This record gives sequence, structure tokens and C-alpha cells, in this order.
Amino acid sequence: NGIIIAIDGPAAAGKSTIAKKVAQKLGFTYIDTGAMYRALTHKAIRSDINMDSDKDLGDLLLHTEILLIPKNGGQAVLIDGVDCSDEIRSQEVTSNVSKVAAHTTVRKLMIEKQRALAEGTGVVMDGRDIGTAVLPAAELKIFMTASVDERAERRFQENEKRGIHSSLSQLKEEIENRDRADSEREISPLKMADDAILVDTTSMSIDEVADKLIELAEK
Ligand code: C5P
Repeated sequence: NGIIIAIDGPAAAGKSTIAKKVAQKLGFTYIDTGAMYRALTHKAIRSDINMDSDKDLGDLLLHTEILLIPKNGGQAVLIDGVDCSDEIRSQEVTSNVSKVAAHTTVRKLMIEKQRALAEGTGVVMDGRDIGTAVLPAAELKIFMTASVDERAERRFQENEKRGIHSSLSQLKEEIENRDRADSEREISPLKMADDAILVDTTSMSIDEVADKLIELAEK
């Protein structure tokens, strides 16, 4: 019933777009681990939880139900039964999520949840530490990247499509800050696994990247 495909890489490299497509083509389950950290961050902001406290965030996570539900080829994110798919992409969540995700207890609990979700099924999981920490035995590990200018441009276009007008230079700065925080944290930082395949998507189309991954998965 399928293999495990881990896709890691910096922010806005196109991981979730590709992961979704590949999962759909192969009939696998797609799991967006970034959405889980975003969901916790959203709830922490809404509940006025101290985002510097590992203990408070850990307690909050233990009392939060985060569900990833397949929806129109993508996935809806339900927090305690409420669809928060759009809210977790807000600027406020984006600028706080790396801080929340750096905490020890938060990561321990999230990694446990993510492993449980991958059990007994073909899976495409995307994130920062899937190949290194969550599913180190994954049959296929991809480290997906693109130049920071290209990533900022893609995020800009994506926002425009959703009716959000953003500043390209601000997006670039936000992406660089998040990558730095994600790479420098102590527990399971953003890092390429030794046995991952590096895919630079700077001058590749979505279909080209998806086809390449499917070819690698079918090997
Ligand atoms: O993938 P996305 O940009 O939605 O992830 C949001 C944030 O969640 C990342 O910047 C990172 O701080 C955190 N994250 C993480 N580990 C993962 C996935 C995401 O720390 N496996």
C-alpha cells in the first residue's frame, strides 16, 4: 500500500503544491506538517497563550484537535472541528510560527502525531524535518529548493490569486527570516538529510517537478 515520500526544504519552495500533486497521482495520503504548526500558532494567538512558553504551548497542543481533511485535491485544516484553512495562512500566523515551532515539547508532540498519521499507508509528507527526524526511514527523500527571489515571486503571485496584495521585498525578507529561524533552532532544524535528493526548482515548472518526483517514486 505504498511508500513514504518525505519532502523538505525552505519556505515557499513549492513543496506543498508538488506534494499535493504527487500524492494525488499516486493515490497516497498528503500530510502538510507546516499546517499543523500553523494551526497551533493560530490557536495560541487566539487564546492569548504566551508563545515564549514551551510548557503553555505544549499544554495547549494536548488540548487541541488538529485534523487534516482531504478537500478538492488539497486539504482543509480543522482546529477543534472548525475549518481554519485560510486563517492559518495569515500574516500574523506566518510571522510567529517559527518561534512556536522551535519549542522542545511542541516539536516532540508534533513529531509523534506526524508519525502516527503516516502509519500503514502510502504518504507524501512535506515540512522541514521529515527526512531527518519525523520519518528517517522514508523510501524517497527530496530536498526541494529554489532561489529566494524565485520563492518570493511565487509567494507574491500566489497571494495575488487569493486577492492579497503584498510587497515583494517584504515577502523576501519574511522568507529569509523564517528560513534562518528554522535552520538555527536546536531540535530538528531545517536541514537536508544525507540521503535526500536535492531538487532545485528555480527554473522548473510545477509539472516538471511533479513528473520528476513520480519518476523517482516509481524507481
Ligand atoms: O510549510 P510552512 O511554510 O507552512 O511551515 C510553516 C512553519 O512551520 C515553518 O516556517 C516552520 O517554522 C514550521 N515547520 C516546522 N517543521 C515542519 C514543518 C513546518 O518547524 N516539519
